[in-house]
Amino acid sequence: MNHDSKPAATSATFALSVTSAASPAAWAAARRSACPGLVRVVAALDGGLCRVRLPGGVLLSTQAHAIAEAAIAHASGTLELTNRANLQVRGIRAGSEAALTAALVEAGLGPSNATSEAADLCIADELRNLMLSPLAGLDRAALIDTTTLAAPIVAMLQGEPRFAALSPKFALLIDGGEQLAALDHPHDIWLAAAARGAAVRFTFGLAGCPADGAHGSIAAADAIAFIEALLHAFLDLAQPGQTRMREIVATHGAQAVLQRAQDHAPLDIAHERGWHHPGVDLALRLGVHESKHGTVYIGCQPPLARLDAATLHALATLARTHGDSTLRITPWQGAILPNIDNGNAQDVLENLQTLGLITDPAHPLARTIACTGSAGCAKSRADTKADALRLAGQLPPEVHVHLSGCERSCAAAHRAPYTLLAVAPGAYELYEQGDDHHQHDQQHATHMAPFGRAVASHLTIDAAAQMLTQLTAQRPRSTSDV
Ligand code: SF4
Repeated sequence: MNHDSKPAATSATFALSVTSAASPAAWAAARRSACPGLVRVVAALDGGLCRVRLPGGVLLSTQAHAIAEAAIAHASGTLELTNRANLQVRGIRAGSEAALTAALVEAGLGPSNATSEAADLCIADELRNLMLSPLAGLDRAALIDTTTLAAPIVAMLQGEPRFAALSPKFALLIDGGEQLAALDHPHDIWLAAAARGAAVRFTFGLAGCPADGAHGSIAAADAIAFIEALLHAFLDLAQPGQTRMREIVATHGAQAVLQRAQDHAPLDIAHERGWHHPGVDLALRLGVHESKHGTVYIGCQPPLARLDAATLHALATLARTHGDSTLRITPWQGAILPNIDNGNAQDVLENLQTLGLITDPAHPLARTIACTGSAGCAKSRADTKADALRLAGQLPPEVHVHLSGCERSCAAAHRAPYTLLAVAPGAYELYEQGDDHHQHDQQHATHMAPFGRAVASHLTIDAAAQMLTQLTAQRPRSTSDV
């Protein structure tokens, strides 16, 4: 699998570039997004916030050490994992933003196809929102190894000057048919491997997620050319202010986008809607499991997606000592250590548990997600993280719950089985997913309340726990309902 293992510039040239004048901040401010990035450190209540994009979720152990060191040197030492399989540095001290960025670029965490100029770096950084299964290249059940596609796709995104106009939020998913996959997270373009007789094709969809159904399929060999053609079609059709594929599909229809794409690359597109994933088991995100090369991988998750620099150092050391010196960040705000020798698995598992990391999908904190909350976000109406810890102590078995400080739903790209939406400190509305949850993707995009059917209002955390117990006694949930 690819990763930006080569620094985009030497530390010296980069330091000159990002510390001279006010160019990074000024340039980032002029961009049309408030998304945090490698250069665009955005302000939060707990300090600056930097997002380290990890195409395919891959993080080298050396890079993990570098992030941990930078988080201590320039920030509070608090790190968090995101539901797009990225990593964020929180609490960056005022005046330390450029030094943090320079340290991360020096560690090879910047885009490989950018100069050291801040504007160039910022654009290239934002053109690598590519999600793969965390088991890409590791899962024997997969239909195709998508790791070979990741680097060429990112290079294509960054190599076409026209694509600099894409939104920093524009996101791609390539699914290889692995047993562990986030199929309910919306993307602008998604491709999913599907067996067609002896061949493997990619079914695809525009503006949504694989769980919604496909718009058609293409030959696996055409994947990169097809994505490139779709991006050109998107930019051809986008009007000022339209930044996401869902807006173009809503205006023109998916067929018009496909027709335009074929003007750019006359590929053979089969128009098929039916698509079924061979089978996903989200319990595979945690614990010890066999993988492709006669080894095992071990999945873990920090409570509520937060870990400190010392824990990241320890994870990186475990990956180097017992694995293949890589970590994979997962879209469930956890990490996987690939290629562990089976004989060492129990030791590694116990080490992870000693670090306070969760390795059991039945653990209440493996079933609880919460956004930043009022400790770090001015929009939050409640301290969702603290409330989530309190709730986890009372959470009924098999229940998955999401606590959100406002309607933006930062912690969940999907609709959770149960959502607690803060209305005031310590007070929440309770929502139940409902059967129409795939409609969530369009709703989520507009930040409408995307949480499902309202069940109760103004619940304290203790009352919410009681309500969840009553509800689930009537309607048991499966552990796959993450
Ligand atoms: S969901 Fe709302 S309150 Fe929570 S982190 Fe996002 S913007 Fe802040």
